[in-house]
Amino acid sequence: MADLDALFDKTGAGFWKSRSDDELLEMEFTTDDPESLDNISNDPPPDEEAMVELAYNVAGRDAGRVRCVFCKYPNHERGVVMLYRTGQRRLVGRDCAHKHYGVTFDALVQDFDAAHDRVNYVERQRLAVSERIDLLGLLRAMRAAPAIREFAETRRRLRDFMGNTLWDRFVKIADRDEPLSGGHGTAVRHGEMTLYVGSRSEGYLQGAEMVRTGPTVAERLDQIELDLAGVIRVLRATEVGTRDIRAALVRMVDILKQVEAERVRMRSVTRFFDDENLGRIAHWMREHGRHGIAVEVLPYRLVDDYSQAECGPPKDYTIPGMAVVAAMRDAIVISPKKRRKAS
Ligand SMILES: [Zn+2]
Repeated sequence: MADLDALFDKTGAGFWKSRSDDELLEMEFTTDDPESLDNISNDPPPDEEAMVELAYNVAGRDAGRVRCVFCKYPNHERGVVMLYRTGQRRLVGRDCAHKHYGVTFDALVQDFDAAHDRVNYVERQRLAVSERIDLLGLLRAMRAAPAIREFAETRRRLRDFMGNTLWDRFVKIADRDEPLSGGHGTAVRHGEMTLYVGSRSEGYLQGAEMVRTGPTVAERLDQIELDLAGVIRVLRATEVGTRDIRAALVRMVDILKQVEAERVRMRSVTRFFDDENLGRIAHWMREHGRHGIAVEVLPYRLVDDYSQAECGPPKDYTIPGMAVVAAMRDAIVISPKKRRKAS
C-alpha cells in the first residue's frame, strides 16, 4: 500500500496528470481480478478524496461480472477501482459511476484514461526508437539488397528484348491494366514437347507491376527512408505529446504499407515469368510482327529464335525487407505488456 497521505497531499485528484512517462511505465492500469485487492468493501463509498486507481475488464472470465458498490449487483464487465484517502477501495461500474458521481467522476476517470492511453503510446514510442531496433538501418539494408537492382535490371532486359516500339505499347497495356489479346498458338517447336508457343487464353498481364511506369523501387525506398527518418525524429524528441506520438505512429503505419507495397511489387517478377503469362506475351508479340518469339522452360523465359536473344527471370532473387517489416509491425502493434497483478 502506497503512502496514501503523501499520495493525496502531493497530487490529490491530479495524481495521474502529474506522473512522468517513466513513472507511468512502472505503473499498473488494469486488473482482471479486482475483488482480490486489499480493502475492498461493498459498503457505501466514504466521503473522502478519491482517485481512479485501476480499470478492470473481466469480459469472458469464469467468475462472471463484478459487483458494483452502487447497483449492489454483479452487473459490470468494465469498471474502475476507486481508491480513497484512507486506503479503502470500492469497485464501480463505469456507467454507475457516471450516474452517481457525475462530472467529478468523469474528470477523475478522464485523467486516468488519458494516463493509460499515454503509457500505451509511450511504450510504442520507446520501442520504435529503442537502440535495439534500428528501423532506419533495416530499411537501408533492404535498399541495398541486390534484388532491388535485379528488379530494375529485369525490366530493362525485357525492354531490350521487346524493342522500343513494342515496349512502349506493352507499358501502356500494363499502365492501363488492359487485357493482352490471346488466341491460338500452342505448338511444338523443334519437335520437343517441353517448348511452348503462345497461349490459348486471352487475359490480363500478370505481374504488370514489373512493367508499369513510375518511380523505381530504389527511388520509392529513398523517399520512404526520408519519411521514416522524419517520424523517428519526432519520436526521439523529448516531451512528445500523446497526440504527436499517435500521429507519428499513424505515419509509420502508412510507411509500413508503402514498404509492403514495394515488396509486393518485387514479387510481381514471379507472376510475370509464369508459363501462361509468358505464353500470352509471346503470342501478343507475334501478333505484332515478332514471329520468332516463343517460351522456353527451366526457367520459363521468352526467347527470340531469330535474333537468338532471350529474357528470363533474375537469378538468386530474394525479396528483401522482411526484417524491417517485422520490426515496424512490432513497434506499431505492440502486445500489451503483461503487468504485475494489483495488490
Ligand atoms: Zn453498478
